[in-house]
Amino acid sequence: MNRIKVHLERKYSASYDIHIGRGILDRLALILSKNGWGSRYFIVTDAVVSQLHGDRVADVLGRTGLAVERLDLPAGETSKNIQTCVNVAEQLAQRGADRTSALIALGGGVVGDVTGFVASIFMRGIPHVQVPTTLLAQVDSSIGGKTGVDVPSAKNMLGTFCQPRAVFIDIDFLETLPAREFTNGLAEIVKYGMIEDPDLLEDLTSGMEALDRRDKRFLETIISRSCRIKKTIVEIDETERGLRRILNFGHTVGHALEAESSYALSHGESVALGMNAATVLSERLGYLSAEDREHMLSVIRHMGLPDRIPAGLDTEGIMARLKRDKKKAGESIHFVLLKRPGMPFVNGGVPLELVRETIEAMKT
Ligand code: NAD
Repeated sequence: MNRIKVHLERKYSASYDIHIGRGILDRLALILSKNGWGSRYFIVTDAVVSQLHGDRVADVLGRTGLAVERLDLPAGETSKNIQTCVNVAEQLAQRGADRTSALIALGGGVVGDVTGFVASIFMRGIPHVQVPTTLLAQVDSSIGGKTGVDVPSAKNMLGTFCQPRAVFIDIDFLETLPAREFTNGLAEIVKYGMIEDPDLLEDLTSGMEALDRRDKRFLETIISRSCRIKKTIVEIDETERGLRRILNFGHTVGHALEAESSYALSHGESVALGMNAATVLSERLGYLSAEDREHMLSVIRHMGLPDRIPAGLDTEGIMARLKRDKKKAGESIHFVLLKRPGMPFVNGGVPLELVRETIEAMKT
């Protein structure tokens, strides 16, 4: 069992703990009882997670005397919109939730982002706790307080910064995670390796057999390392004014691909393609050696993540989405590029034409 503290005292939010381990639901119940963040708890989850784990989580919490109710969303990215948030808020209002109520996000990044967003605006803000159940959410989206939902033309256009009161990462949830979703989460871990900890790339590659077996000890180590990297960056720059932007490595092209594919490409797959694009651009702009780019591409392939953009995706459609991205400035796009593995920087002047050529060259 690992406990990692996110220190935010001097910033906008209170510090909180990330609890990481196996079978830690009892600990969740204990800490909720002890801290009294809510007089009533609403577990927000999706239909898939609710079916697999909802009863167990509600039972454990209920046994400690906590008042717990459940609220199910349809599963998947298409739920990550403002209408879902309105529905959740309406359900909360109908069930008599008030400012003493608290939310528990039980699910992947979609549930986490929607729940955090609703918690930040329901009655001008109520507490929430993150209980991530996908690998991606355990290493990334549950930490750091970025919340948000999509609008039809772009991802995460509506959102807030709202830190959870605590994060509980129970590795046992990963037992039921489908293989594609597991691989999806590896993309964000690869990202940490590329921007911050090149040794992590080596450990992932040499630990592939343990990953395939979903060895819990190995997973706990890798998840804890990832959480430490993210929390350190968030502590320095909670609201993404500077350093935190490096966490968007691979996400500029990634978000455009994800939306352009109508979410047929998952978030992790899109980020893997985006990371590949960012390393190609880094090389073409003279920052990264061909050898380093090849090495990073080989890690992406080794993890079973895609490296080619589906030919059916329209390049102009992808470009149009890039131009609407939050990271755009004039005729250039802000990209996180690399000088070396572990040495990222934000480049504000990548010409759109070079991005177009790179996308075309990456097509199958
Ligand atoms: P997701 O939440 O859609 O979950 C993927 C699928 O796995 C869903 O069908 C879900 O029902 C299912 N699932 C979840 N847990 C399961 C389990 N234990 N067993 C079986 N099935 C399970 O997707 P995701 O990949 O977790 O998250 C992607 C989202 O996260 C994207 O919207 C992305 O923008 C967001 N994100 C946010 C941040 C942030 O900082 N807020 C960071 C990275 C990604």
